Amino acid sequence: MIPVFTRLIIDRRALDDPLTGRIRSSLSGAEEIVTGDVSSHPGPATLVLKFHEGRFVKDFPVTPGAPPCGEKYIAALQGCIYNCSYCYLRSYLSHSTITLLVNSGKMESDIREALDAGTVRLTTGELSDSLALDHITGLTSSILPLLEGTSAVIEARTKSASVDHLPGVNGSDAELAGKHLLVTWTLSPPKTIASEEPIAASLDERLGAISKVRSAGIAFALRLDPIIPHYWDAGSYRDLLQRVKDEAGDAPRRIELGVLRFPPGLIESVRQDSPYSPILQGEYVRDREGKMRLYRPMRVKIYREAADMIREIFPQTGIELSQEDRTVWEDAGLEPPVVC
Ligand code: SF4
Repeated sequence: MIPVFTRLIIDRRALDDPLTGRIRSSLSGAEEIVTGDVSSHPGPATLVLKFHEGRFVKDFPVTPGAPPCGEKYIAALQGCIYNCSYCYLRSYLSHSTITLLVNSGKMESDIREALDAGTVRLTTGELSDSLALDHITGLTSSILPLLEGTSAVIEARTKSASVDHLPGVNGSDAELAGKHLLVTWTLSPPKTIASEEPIAASLDERLGAISKVRSAGIAFALRLDPIIPHYWDAGSYRDLLQRVKDEAGDAPRRIELGVLRFPPGLIESVRQDSPYSPILQGEYVRDREGKMRLYRPMRVKIYREAADMIREIFPQTGIELSQEDRTVWEDAGLEPPVVC
């Protein structure tokens, strides 16, 4: 079940920000604590609004040898309500509290600066799910107008079905959303979702949301990432892609593939909490960055099989690999682009 926030911890310096105002009216029943030190109020069901003076637009970490990613991420929300079993945030964030970084003026000027410098891909989905709380934060609606007149796209990455509030879907700003919004769903076969992402939307719900977004003229993309080796079975992924084709009535703009990997510290944390977890099954070896990755020939085999079925079902859709070096792209029969 999706957790409900019953407590708002508000940084005193963020009190007058319009984003804080939106959250307070969305969560009007929550207890509010206004403080000079948000870190001293941890607790469950708590959303922290923290004033942020640092950069909001950041570069993705680069995997050695991988095609450079021209995308940048907007670091607004940190932490996620879905708590997927394999979530990389466990190794990135030292706490489980969900924190929204607040400073609307700075966020806007950082985004404008990135757009002026030629950035054409931005996402809000690096340190959280882009849409899980977007109906509360309104971030997508507030960022989208900044892209008007540019060739840039804001990508919402999600495992949710919460799209009714989005520009375009809600009847407002349809042209803007059609030009500048891309919603990317992470999909897995139903068995994987039930076991490893039980709080996130079901496959049926995600497919229903894809249909809504498409009907509103908004582009969508897919991430089959992570593919968890224990659950890999070409037949169930073929069924998944066929259902997308039948129910969305259109092809995704691109499909990104990634076999499960564990950033430093994550596999140890999973072993400690769930020593018999299916996500630990498989032959993992540590790479140059310290990540645990599935034995390379097994990864390449999965990528080849997945790419073959994508070419068959969505022949026009581009295929990308997530965080893999060029030699893995080539061995998987994919041409690495100059820039993803
Ligand atoms: S949806 Fe993404 S960010 Fe949220 S818990 Fe799952 S893996 Fe982590």
